[in-house]
Amino acid sequence: MANVNEKKLNDFMAKVIAKNPSEIEFHQAVHEVVSSLLPYIEEHPQYSEAKILERMVEPERTILFRVPWLDDKGEVQINKGFRIEMNSAIGPYKGGLRFHPTVNLGILKFLAFEQVLKNSLTTLPMGGGKGGTDFDPKGKSDNEVMRFCQSFMSELFRHIGPNTDVPAGDIGVGGREIGFLFGQYKRLRNEFTGVLTGKGIEWGGSLVRPEATGYGATYFAEEMLKTRGQSFKGKIVAISGSGNVAQYATEKVTQLGGKVVTLSDSSGYIYDANGIDAVKLAWIMQLKNVKRGRIAEYVAKFGGSFVEGERPWGVKCDVAMPCATQNEINEEEAKLLVKNGCIAVSEGANMPSTPEAVDVYINSKILYGPGKAANAGGVATSGLEMSQNSLRLSWTREEVDARLHQIMVDIHSTCVKYGTQSDGFINYVNGANIGGFVKVADAMLAQGLV
Ligand code: NDP
Repeated sequence: MANVNEKKLNDFMAKVIAKNPSEIEFHQAVHEVVSSLLPYIEEHPQYSEAKILERMVEPERTILFRVPWLDDKGEVQINKGFRIEMNSAIGPYKGGLRFHPTVNLGILKFLAFEQVLKNSLTTLPMGGGKGGTDFDPKGKSDNEVMRFCQSFMSELFRHIGPNTDVPAGDIGVGGREIGFLFGQYKRLRNEFTGVLTGKGIEWGGSLVRPEATGYGATYFAEEMLKTRGQSFKGKIVAISGSGNVAQYATEKVTQLGGKVVTLSDSSGYIYDANGIDAVKLAWIMQLKNVKRGRIAEYVAKFGGSFVEGERPWGVKCDVAMPCATQNEINEEEAKLLVKNGCIAVSEGANMPSTPEAVDVYINSKILYGPGKAANAGGVATSGLEMSQNSLRLSWTREEVDARLHQIMVDIHSTCVKYGTQSDGFINYVNGANIGGFVKVADAMLAQGLV
């Protein structure tokens, strides 16, 4: 494959930046994808003639709205609501809702753009979208979260539907929030449909959906390790975050014989050289999902150390799994990982590595699974939840887990197909970007100028 044409890349990015000023995370995501795609598109001019890339960086629809709600003191609060309906070429818009004070248009557009390619990689018929709000659920009572979710859905409901746009969870949106959002949608529409995924098991949810992103990122890492004749057995694993993705990555890594030695939250990280086993993890799940406490509390219970204000990438590990947020590994930290002997990075979070960190991985030829491939298990299982809702039946845990596992194996194969270089190195970034792009681009060509 030819090298990237720097002039074309710079010209393309200059237009994207001019049209979407200040959206730095969106620029970052587009730059990475377009760097991978330009050489491929030069060999397949039907895509450039139809301006497929130019169309893909423009959302089909962007919805911005006001979310007023009353706090427990009876005071009026106002937040911003967003939904980016990015691309529906291969199915209804699909992608999570993020509730976090840092949320803005640029972050959601980066996530929606990544989601389009990720959903395509799963092989399931799902377009891409993303949404959320700058509301911070931390420190809010259950009643405040409920009132917020009801207000948020009172506007969002008119834009979504099981055949139009199917949101799910993301940072700050777990089972509790999906429940409140679903309840309000049902009340406004007077219909019980699979309009959201990540629902409770008793009311249309799928087994293994809570586990799916963390399990999937671990299955993906396992496939990468296999290409070098390795496995998780005996491997030391550093994980960041302590939310949904981090918890289930920890569970699966431990089941596969690895030892997880770190977890984190926005206050710092814990290090436990003895490993975070099933008993310790059950306690963390209670702490994080029910008590909604801080990860630092782990040390008083189980020992180890808490390092305040730091990220865990200076810890010696064989495999790193960033599972917290975007840009949480920078160039220096990537160098540290490689220097300490890390051989694989599998991203549970979306875009957790800066572009400079990605260059370090690629230049060092370690195994690097970018988020859009490695964390696609979550949305894939959401797709399975949609199928079960349409069929009005529920598959067993074993059946869903087997399908998830197979999807991750297939995504890995797609990356190998499109990302293997002439020297045998698998560039998973190129593999995921090109593999995800082709299906969406062909569907857009077939559907005319839409
Ligand atoms: P959760 O809200 O359950 O957990 C997020 C974790 O990351 C928490 O430990 C949180 O700490 C930490 N975190 C969040 N923001 C920051 C920040 N700015 N700096 C440091 N730490 C931070 O979210 P999920 O586990 O669902 O999501 C984690 C990542 O995985 C995100 O990038 C998300 O987009 C991605 N992802 C999630 C999927 C899913 O199915 N849930 C699917 C695919 C990707 P604290 O509590 O202190 O904020």
